[in-house]
Amino acid sequence: MTKQAFVLGWPIEHSRSPAMLNAAFRALGLDATMSSRAVPPERLADAIAELRALPALGASVTIPHKEALLALADEVSPEARAIGAANCLEFRDGNVIAHNTDAPGFADSLGFMPRNAVILGAGGAARAVAHGLVTGSINAGAGSRAATRVAVVARRLASWIASHAWSDLPALLGDADLLVDCTSAGLDPRTDEELADSVPLGTLPRTATVATVIYHRPTKLLERAAALGYSTVDGRGMLVHQGARALTIWTGLPAPIEVMSRALDDSLAPSRK
Ligand code: NDP
Repeated sequence: MTKQAFVLGWPIEHSRSPAMLNAAFRALGLDATMSSRAVPPERLADAIAELRALPALGASVTIPHKEALLALADEVSPEARAIGAANCLEFRDGNVIAHNTDAPGFADSLGFMPRNAVILGAGGAARAVAHGLVTGSINAGAGSRAATRVAVVARRLASWIASHAWSDLPALLGDADLLVDCTSAGLDPRTDEELADSVPLGTLPRTATVATVIYHRPTKLLERAAALGYSTVDGRGMLVHQGARALTIWTGLPAPIEVMSRALDDSLAPSRK
């Protein structure tokens, strides 16, 4: 019988997960499908109970449910516990296990471990990126090299990390090899431009990389960084790699990253023009 995976969110129409995961299932020859389910917050517990009863092959979970999952799962992975949010559910032996694959997904997408990272924003994506960088560099065990240092710059001080005010940005960038925009400013053209104007890119060493978690289209900050000659990384890689890690949790198989990247690009093509 065809195994069923789901992506749960509210709203959910924008989700690219079915395009990526269905392409991956086809490439692996698995008799499985992923479909999206629009689940309002008050229905989340019932929706998870339905998936447990099936049982589902697995579920990806997105806004606004990432924090609520922790209280609804039977087990929570150490990463999800530390971050305070989960984006992936595994159904194993009647139990629901909550994982966070956003965190290692960002580190996977980067392709290198920075020494000094500066993160803009202090919301859920920032927490996952910070955790992925710190634990990723520890796990990589790069000889005697110290683990990645992370500075978070936010317009409101964050409770989960010693964060910095925006006015500290020039000094922090001067010694950084990675700048990651984890704000949601890029979702709106007006705030996208404002955020790009507020980052003194010129103070960042030319060898540094500039990244964003936004994947729908290039942000202004990323465009300006590329024009100045910096290496840039957009949020597509993080999205692909969090999905790839979820697929491996559900099936035990290595994910076809190239196939998933192509499926994501195809599904984004209209919005990235
Ligand atoms: P949150 O709402 O939790 O956090 C957003 C953060 O951005 C807050 O710190 C907020 O500050 C800050 N912010 C928003 N606008 C501005 C601005 N104009 N200037 C400065 N700071 C600003 O959202 P998430 O962290 O959950 O998501 C952020 C983005 O990450 C979303 O666009 C989401 O799509 C993307 N994302 C991408 C993933 C991927 O796989 N590529 C995975 C997860 C998320 P304040 O609190 O002051 O409002």
